[in-house]
Amino acid sequence: MPFSKLGLPPALVNGVKAMGYTDPTPIQLRAIPVVLGGGDLIGSAQTGTGKTAAFALPTLARLGKHEPRGPRVLILEPTRELAAQVETAFRDFGRFTDLRATVVHGGVGYGRQRSELQAGTDVVIATPGRLMDFINERTLSLAGVKILILDEVDRMLDMGFVKDVKKIIAMCPKERQTLFFSATVPPEIEEVARFALRNPARIEIGVARTVNQSVTHAFYPVPQGLKFDLLVALLEKTDFQSCIVFSRTKHGADKIARKLKAANHSVAVLHANRSQNQRVEALAGFKSGKYEVMVATDIAARGIDVAGVSHVINYDIPANPEDYVHRIGRTGRAAAVGDAFTITTPDQAGEIRDIERFIGQKVPQLKLEGFNYSAQPKPAMGFQGAAPAHGQRPAHGHGGGRGGQGGHGGGRGQQQREQRYFQPSSQTQAPRPGQPQGHGGGHSQQAEHPQRKFGNLSRGRWQRR
Ligand code: AMP
Repeated sequence: MPFSKLGLPPALVNGVKAMGYTDPTPIQLRAIPVVLGGGDLIGSAQTGTGKTAAFALPTLARLGKHEPRGPRVLILEPTRELAAQVETAFRDFGRFTDLRATVVHGGVGYGRQRSELQAGTDVVIATPGRLMDFINERTLSLAGVKILILDEVDRMLDMGFVKDVKKIIAMCPKERQTLFFSATVPPEIEEVARFALRNPARIEIGVARTVNQSVTHAFYPVPQGLKFDLLVALLEKTDFQSCIVFSRTKHGADKIARKLKAANHSVAVLHANRSQNQRVEALAGFKSGKYEVMVATDIAARGIDVAGVSHVINYDIPANPEDYVHRIGRTGRAAAVGDAFTITTPDQAGEIRDIERFIGQKVPQLKLEGFNYSAQPKPAMGFQGAAPAHGQRPAHGHGGGRGGQGGHGGGRGQQQREQRYFQPSSQTQAPRPGQPQGHGGGHSQQAEHPQRKFGNLSRGRWQRR
C-alpha cells in the first residue's frame, strides 16, 4: 500500500516522497492508522525499522496547521543525538506544512531554545533534564499537550530518567494521546505504560531479539592483552566503508580513539562526556566521510541513524545482550549489508552464551587469518601512541583514510596517566581450540557496500527562528 492510501494529507505524502521513500515499512503500515485514529499505542520495534516516520507522520497529520501557542506534541528522547535526529525527521517530513518543531536538550546554551519556545512551537522534542529546566523556570507549560510520545523508553529508564519521565507524564493533560516506543517491553515499562496509556494497541515489529538478516556477525576470541592489536588487524584486513567501534566506557572510547589515531585512522569519538559541539562535529564528520571510524559508547550511539555504516566492531562485548542487538542494528540498516565483529576474551563465555540465547542463534567464533594469536601481549608502553608494533596502517583496503583526524584531543601526558586501562591481563590465554578458521572466504570477499546517502534536502517552511 502506498503512503497516499494511508490517510495522510497531501502535504505529508509529498514530504515523504521528497525523502525518497516509496512504500511504508511494516511498522508504518500498522502504526499510522492507529495514531491517525487517535488511539494510544505501544510499539516495540527494532531500530532501523522506520519507527520515527511511523509516529512523526500521523502526529503531523493530526496537528494540521501551526498554532502560535505552547506545544501540542511532546516527544521525549533519551539522548541529545536522538532528539536532534527526530527533530530533523519532523522538519523533513513537515517541509510542506507550516508546523514548527523545537528541540530541547542539554549540552548547549539555553538562549536559543528558550526563544524558540517563547515564540510558540507545535512540537517539542526533548531530553528529560533540559525539559524539566524549562518547565521549572516557567518558559514552557505542558498544559496544551495533546500527543505525548515516549521514544526508546527502555533506554530512558535504563539511564535513570524514570522519576523525571513520570513527573513529565503527570504534567500533561489527562485527555491526550500517548505513544510508547521501546525495543523491548519489560515489566518496569509495563508499569509506566499502565500509568500513562489507555487501552493501547500493541504493535510488535522485528522483535529486538532478532539480528538484522542483512548483517553477517561473528565473535573473534583473543587473549585480553591482544585486543587492541586484533582491532587494528580487523580494520586493516576489512574493506570497510565506515565503521563504528563500541567501547563499554567513555574512558575506554577515548583511549581506543587515541590509539587508532596513532595507527593512522581518521577517528571520531561519541560519548556522553563530550560537549555538544564535539558530538555534533563527530557525527557530521562521520556522516560526511571525514572520519572513517567512530568510537562510541552504547548510550551515545543509541538509535543514531547513519546511512552506509558498513561495519560494527564491538571492542568490548556489550554489557547486556539487548545492547548487542542495538549495536549491530547500526549496520545493515535499510536493507544495506553490513558486518559486525565482536572481540571476546577467554573469560567471557558467559556473556557469549547470554547473547546467543537472547538472539536465539549461535554466532560463529572465528580467527583472523594471519593474526599472531601467540604474540606476547605488549607492555603498557607499547600502547601509548608510540609507534605501535603493527606499524603504520598500510594503504590497502580502505584507502588510507579520508583525511582529518578525530577531534578528541588528549596528549601524550594524558595517555601516560591513563595507561592502566590497556595493561594486559595476567589471565592471558590462547583462544579455545577447535574454533573455525577464516571468515567464510575471508575479509577480502566482503559484499559491495552501499554508498553513503545523506540527503541535502531543503527544510521547506520548517524554520529555526
Ligand atoms: P528509523 O527506524 O526511524 O531510525 O529509520 C531507519 C532508516 O530507515 C532511516 O534512515 C529512515 O530514513 C529510513 N526509512 C524510514 N522509513 C522508510 C521508508 N518507508 N522507506 C525507505 N526508508 C525509510
